[in-house]
Amino acid sequence: MDIAKPANDLDIAVIGGGVAGITAAYILQQHHRVSLYERNDYLGGHTHTVVIPDGPDAGTPVDTGFIVLNDRTYPLFNRLLGRLEVTIRPSDMSFSYYSAVTGFQYASRNLNALFAQRRNLVSPIHLYMLTEILRFNHAARRSLQRQALGGLTLGDFLRQMRMSRAFRTRYILPMAAAIWSSPDDDVMDFPMATFARFFENHGLLSVRDMPQWYYVYGGSHTYVQAFGRRFEGRVLTQTPVRGLKRDDNGIDLRLADGSTRRHDIAVVALHADEAFGMLEDPTPDEKRLLGPWRYSRNQVFLHTDSEWMPPLQRAWASWNYYRAPGDSRRTPITLTYDMNRLQDLRTRRPYFVTLNPPRPIAARKTVATFTYHHPMYTFASLETQAELPRLNGRRRTFYCGSYHGYGFHEDAVHAAVQASASLGGRL
Ligand SMILES: Cc1cc2nc3c(=O)[nH]c(=O)nc-3n(C[C@H](O)[C@H](O)[C@H](O)COP(=O)(O)OP(=O)(O)OC[C@H]3O[C@@H](n4cnc5c(N)ncnc54)[C@H](O)[C@@H]3O)c2cc1C
Repeated sequence: MDIAKPANDLDIAVIGGGVAGITAAYILQQHHRVSLYERNDYLGGHTHTVVIPDGPDAGTPVDTGFIVLNDRTYPLFNRLLGRLEVTIRPSDMSFSYYSAVTGFQYASRNLNALFAQRRNLVSPIHLYMLTEILRFNHAARRSLQRQALGGLTLGDFLRQMRMSRAFRTRYILPMAAAIWSSPDDDVMDFPMATFARFFENHGLLSVRDMPQWYYVYGGSHTYVQAFGRRFEGRVLTQTPVRGLKRDDNGIDLRLADGSTRRHDIAVVALHADEAFGMLEDPTPDEKRLLGPWRYSRNQVFLHTDSEWMPPLQRAWASWNYYRAPGDSRRTPITLTYDMNRLQDLRTRRPYFVTLNPPRPIAARKTVATFTYHHPMYTFASLETQAELPRLNGRRRTFYCGSYHGYGFHEDAVHAAVQASASLGGRL
């Protein structure tokens, strides 16, 4: 049965307790009975704050997944934070590049950081790269306005523009790889129109137009806790859903212990590949729209080792790209977030979050490790996005998650708001 006109007081299962599931559950409780199923022993998914357990900084909340939002491209997430009465504070957003192969390093913060290595003041390669940033920004903007990017990948565009190797390997690929937590090759295949639109919206095609970025004061888990205090439904953590089957009268969730739970409606707030894998009776449309999605896998370390930061402190930034010897274009990105800078932490030890370090980090310097997955954008996956909302309401099933947009918090919240609207709820 399809849901065209929703009734009130439905018994709804929201599957997945990341920001998409939390938002859907928060909205849907206005009119319905909601059960929130989450595989992990905590709610939040990629919103995952670690409280330092011991040592001189015990009790400090450090974010390991979601860290920042801004005042321009996160309208719905800002509204959610407002409803939850959560405080945000200005963050520092800057980027650095360091190659352990050549020793080359710079950061975007200011002139002192751009020329952190003083010899780059007279390096024709570096100076030319800086002029190419302006040329690229201008050309990408103009092509976007003229809608002249259809069918091109970022790699195609870079070749067409004859951008230098330095621009590719020291600027645009590291920056894009850092944003989407992907290896260089995947970034080269990124559809250029989507890439340019994202960069334009985030002020990255301009030197002066950057939005103000913010972190969640007290750690991003603050908003998850605030949700927990306001949610009147049932929260089932450590309850992975293994299967979802639909019939005319309801839906059945198959749980890990073999038991089955019956509900009226399922809101599937998982990654697209996990959502598709869970369906025991996928329709041709679900197969067509969820099937093409792939995710990049990132090993994430929260630690206190400055090994993965640029050797010169004046080249340090909030996001620090590290090119290791022997890296290929398929090697997962090594990126270090300087959490003291991003969350304005005043701690005795420095705290870093590193994605995919090429060598293990010493156990005595490691606080925690995780694996996070990020959606990969190809023409095949992007083509599904316009039609994804049409799955909502078919066979008593609704979908949301960051893969409905660019892969970030606003995208997940937007998709949750859209799915919930069809069930009569508003943020
Ligand atoms: C390292 C990193 C840093 C990031 N930083 C930012 C940032 O600063 N700003 C930003 O906007 N975005 C950031 N992102 C993107 C982030 O992924 C999204 O913003 C958003 O958090 C994704 O939300 P989601 O609800 O779609 O997915 P998730 O947060 O992944 O939630 C999915 C949930 O479903 C659960 N689940 C999975 N399978 C099952 C099952 N079978 N049964 C029950 N539950 C299940 C998972 O455990 C998880 O809790 C970052 C991503 C990464 C990897």
